[in-house]
Amino acid sequence: MPLDKEFVTGIQSLCREKDILFIIDEVQTGVSRTGSFYCYQGYGLEPDVVTSAKGLGGGLPIGACLSNKKTSGVLVPGTHGTTFGGNPIACAAAAEVLSRVAEPDFLKAVSEKGEYIKAELLKMPNVKEVRGIGMMIGIVTEKDNAKQVAAKCLENGLLILTAKKLLRLLPPLTISYDEINKGLSILNNTMEETL
Ligand SMILES: *Cc1c(COP(=O)(O)O)cnc(C)c1O
Repeated sequence: MPLDKEFVTGIQSLCREKDILFIIDEVQTGVSRTGSFYCYQGYGLEPDVVTSAKGLGGGLPIGACLSNKKTSGVLVPGTHGTTFGGNPIACAAAAEVLSRVAEPDFLKAVSEKGEYIKAELLKMPNVKEVRGIGMMIGIVTEKDNAKQVAAKCLENGLLILTAKKLLRLLPPLTISYDEINKGLSILNNTMEETL
């Protein structure tokens, strides 16, 4: 559910006005998922704190909390302990991920693949609405049968999720067009099967 720029800019203004921390959770939307390195960058926002995880480790568990100047002195070494925090293996994975996914060409490819997938989805039966940014995509079905479609997709060799009443696609950012087409073809057939 992409948010309107006016809405998020309004929240930022309200936070500034009332001296409330402006924190953006980029755990799912971050690390190039939406075609910006962090989604807020596409909105031109300036958060005080940003949370980041999931894709950051490329499959290894890691979480990070970024601060701006205003908040950088709040959590200092010793304030917040964690047993495996900053462990070298997870950090090495994150460093490798970051060295690849923040490149302009990579970000552009994520946006292009996302647009391609959305355009193809709109040609399928049972697709009422497609929304999302980059490769974070939601599909509203005509038949309101997302759960049934997702279960059938699994049988047919495609793993997709649901989010409430929507089908939810978050393919790997490195997915190839061949793989995209293969997945879309399974989804298309499954949509027909479940009509
Ligand atoms: C998964 C998730 C979290 C929690 O992240 P952890 O690293 O498991 O603590 C927070 N916010 C969003 C949006 C998430 O998807």
